[in-house]
Amino acid sequence: MTDECIFCRILAGEIPCFKVYEDDDTLAFMDINPVHPGHVLVIPREHSANVFEVSDAAIAATAKSARRVAKAVRATLEPDGMNLLQCNGEAAAQSVQHFHMHVLPRAMNDGASLNWELKPGNMDAIGALADRIARALA
Ligand code: 5GP
Ligand code: ZN
Repeated sequence: MTDECIFCRILAGEIPCFKVYEDDDTLAFMDINPVHPGHVLVIPREHSANVFEVSDAAIAATAKSARRVAKAVRATLEPDGMNLLQCNGEAAAQSVQHFHMHVLPRAMNDGASLNWELKPGNMDAIGALADRIARALA
């Protein structure tokens, strides 16, 4: 729990939320700036800033709850599609520094800006980067 973290304050009950699900490790609540109706946020109770800092247990619990919530959103709204997504850092549009996953129902041709066109990459460059990333994982 950190005093400055808005999601920790939601967890502590200091700020209200529209709760849809909770368990021992996670909380899921409606995003108050929804991209589409049914946009839900899922957070671990344990505070961490992002995917680089979250514990294995907390990310596993959050992913599990997010899938459970996604099924309920699908049953409720029957959207054309759904993104489960998670942002880290300013360029990735992270605005709250408490690890969270978005459950984001989508409509066909809704123009949400996170869609991209598929353009073939340079195989030499892709292969070289694969080697470098694999070395960082070794
Ligand atoms: P990010 O951009 O960090 O991935 O997503 C943060 C999300 O938190 C945004 O979609 C924003 O609408 C949501 N958010 C920010 N403050 C609050 C709040 O006080 N209550 C709720 N329910 N959502 C919030
Ligand atoms: Zn927090």
